[in-house]
Amino acid sequence: MFIDLSEVTQRLRRMSSEELDVSGSYQSFLLDLIREGKETLVVDQVSVWLFDDISDPKKLINVANTQWDNDLNADDYPVLLCEQYPNYFKAITTGISIDAHDAVTDPRTAEFKNNYLLPNHITTMLDTTIFKNGTPHGVVCFEGRGPLRQWQSAEIAYAEMVADCCSRRLLVNELWTLQQQLTKLAFQDALTGLKNRRYLMDSAHREISRHIRASEPLSVVMLDIDHFKRINDSYGHEIGDVVLKEFAQCCLQALRAEDSLCRLGGEEFIVLLPSTSVAGAQEVAERLRISVEKNIIETAHHYIQVTVSCGVANVALDKPFSYSLKQVDHAVYDAKAQGRNRVACSNS
Ligand code: GH3
Ligand code: MG
Ligand code: MG
Repeated sequence: MFIDLSEVTQRLRRMSSEELDVSGSYQSFLLDLIREGKETLVVDQVSVWLFDDISDPKKLINVANTQWDNDLNADDYPVLLCEQYPNYFKAITTGISIDAHDAVTDPRTAEFKNNYLLPNHITTMLDTTIFKNGTPHGVVCFEGRGPLRQWQSAEIAYAEMVADCCSRRLLVNELWTLQQQLTKLAFQDALTGLKNRRYLMDSAHREISRHIRASEPLSVVMLDIDHFKRINDSYGHEIGDVVLKEFAQCCLQALRAEDSLCRLGGEEFIVLLPSTSVAGAQEVAERLRISVEKNIIETAHHYIQVTVSCGVANVALDKPFSYSLKQVDHAVYDAKAQGRNRVACSNS
């Protein structure tokens, strides 16, 4: 078969330069490339396989395939074990393309004869390596039924380019995943795993707009652990940290999923309560206060009880959220002044 290398590679290069959503499955962001490869090389099936562990490969996992109609769950990906196909694995890990003109007799692919090639009438294979940081990461398999094929150098070069395009997409997907993790971390408090102040300020802004549109009340509760400094002074900062984490878990268990609990900083926490009146928020705050009081925290050497003072306020939907934060902070101050371990409501 003759292919005009300059024409088909240009088409592939243009395709691989297009912006693409890489947030989905491998199948979703590799399929266009392998379909293009299948049509250009006129083969029956193209699939992408990745090593389980690039530094110590034991398995090849089939992550994309031109024969699949739908995405597969990662749990259902077909797998090839290195121990069952040692010659094939050895060949791939050299990084050199496998141009098995007769797949049944080629020593690199003959291992598939009885359990794959013959039952599926596969006669000929061309497998090109996907690299990552210069190391083989997986393989793109072009498989043909029908007459044997003497793979031409232009066809091999083209198949290698398909593997390189897959490798680039995989890299972009990895960067995207890292970016997602970083974004999550940027909005998360490292100690408690709760959302942090940045998240609170962003979500409060969104919630205010949403509640204006829905004409519904939005409330806020501030929690400040009582005499927390004494915990640190008595048991040490590390136990103080454990208490903060346990406190956070205790509060989470007493809240609905939609009530977001954030760590404002130190031993101060905020709950935004969507579609909730001040009276409703007072009930929530009282529930939190009682849960915290009842929750005896067990550490290696101590049982620690903490209490919390809570402020409650209606979020002023016509003002910046910082205004309501100040209001609820005043309410906490009142709760402390009245003797702590209680709930006070902002009088505005
Ligand atoms: P009050 O009842 O008036 O709120 O008294 P308090 O001791 O809780 O309040 P204060 O603001 O005097 O002290 C807060 C303490 O919280 C001081 C600070 O060292 C401690 N703290 C802040 N962040 C952390 C943290 O991440 N870990 C630990 N262990 N302690 C923290
Ligand atoms: Mg405080
Ligand atoms: Mg405190």
